[in-house]
Amino acid sequence: MIKINDLSFSYKNSGKHIKVLDKTCLTVKKGGICAIIGPSGGGKSTLLKVLAGIIVDYEGEVLIDGVKVNPKVHRIGFIPQNYGLVKWKTVEENIFLSTKIKDGKKKIDIAYYEKLVDKLKLKDFVKRYPGQLSGGQMQRVSIARALLLKPDLLLMDESFSSLDALTREEVQKLFLEVWQEHKVTTIIVTHDIKEAIYLAKNIAIISSCPGKVLEVIDNPLFGHINIEFDLESINMNKKLRKILKGEV
Ligand code: ADP
Repeated sequence: MIKINDLSFSYKNSGKHIKVLDKTCLTVKKGGICAIIGPSGGGKSTLLKVLAGIIVDYEGEVLIDGVKVNPKVHRIGFIPQNYGLVKWKTVEENIFLSTKIKDGKKKIDIAYYEKLVDKLKLKDFVKRYPGQLSGGQMQRVSIARALLLKPDLLLMDESFSSLDALTREEVQKLFLEVWQEHKVTTIIVTHDIKEAIYLAKNIAIISSCPGKVLEVIDNPLFGHINIEFDLESINMNKKLRKILKGEV
């Protein structure tokens, strides 16, 4: 279970403090999938960086299963917006990286690695370097690295945004398959309401900056395909847009 209580954070730039998160709260059940949607600049990426243990000088409480978030203690798979790949390592080395650091090279599940590389269509690129890849390919490498870790908490920051429509559908499906198998607690930041409805069990709406979670709604349409043409989905889409518009 992820529990965020009264989380506040300010960036400090040349003596100025810019408040980005303001006493926000969020709870995500163990094995849950929560999408976070809201206006650009509302602090969504910052919230993920706190959960990933990258930002540590925050106020408030951020707990995973009752323990203060700490990447040394928890297994956190983070797929950042900029993919976070190491330029001088090959695709294969990048995918191994988080698991190697956490468990050592010998513990890497090679069969699972091969499955991910196959499903994410990375077979032909494993010996390449990030500089030799397109944005979509780098995004898939970042996804493979996070999934190979078999994390307790998976954090996805616009993780399907660079993929073309067909690949996006396949990778979203792969995510749901992996989730069915491992039930990893997941937080997805997305600007795409349809994606939130398809992939998340709960949808949290965050305000504009400084960000605060305004509402968390249950999503009965989780995992439904063809949601575009479904009346329930159209209504859910309208409801989310209304909440967002009211705020923006
Ligand atoms: P979102 O993901 O919702 O678009 P972000 O968390 O990326 O929002 O950013 C929230 C606010 O914090 C924005 O106004 C952004 O300009 C600002 N910001 C992000 N990173 C930094 C930084 N390193 N230093 C100063 N301000 C930042």
